[in-house]
Amino acid sequence: MHCPFCRNADSRVVDSRSTEDGTCIKRRRQCTDCGKRFSTVETASLTVVKRSGVSEPFSRDKVMSGVRKACQGRPVSDDQLAVLAQQVEESIRSKGAAEIDAHDVGIEILGPLRELDHVAYLRFASVYQAFESLTDFEDAVADLRRHALRDAG
Ligand SMILES: [Zn+2]
Repeated sequence: MHCPFCRNADSRVVDSRSTEDGTCIKRRRQCTDCGKRFSTVETASLTVVKRSGVSEPFSRDKVMSGVRKACQGRPVSDDQLAVLAQQVEESIRSKGAAEIDAHDVGIEILGPLRELDHVAYLRFASVYQAFESLTDFEDAVADLRRHALRDAG
């Protein structure tokens, strides 16, 4: 990071703090040459690797649009989708890895989606867990029932 005032390449960090959601680190720096202070924001990068081997930056919008498809016709709002995407990002980032398989992103979505809407969950799970038969659906429904019972105490 070059000093924006004199282009000196060297600076020292005088203060750093992470944003509330932990995705960015803000640093206050002081140029070692001219002594002026400036701020930088560093985003902890998170890369999603697709099955094709292509990688792209993690995007909450992509999570939302994928889940939105599964939620068609269901009483799920965009606000709820945004919260879900945030939960997914936080749970992935909390693992500390800089890279994640697209398939694992799908798996991370399943938990919060199950809480949101059972039908959307089944649609999504049928794609991500590659359901091939009625038995797969039956198992998933049985699993949902178990969770519902447990949540009901
Ligand atoms: Zn400077």
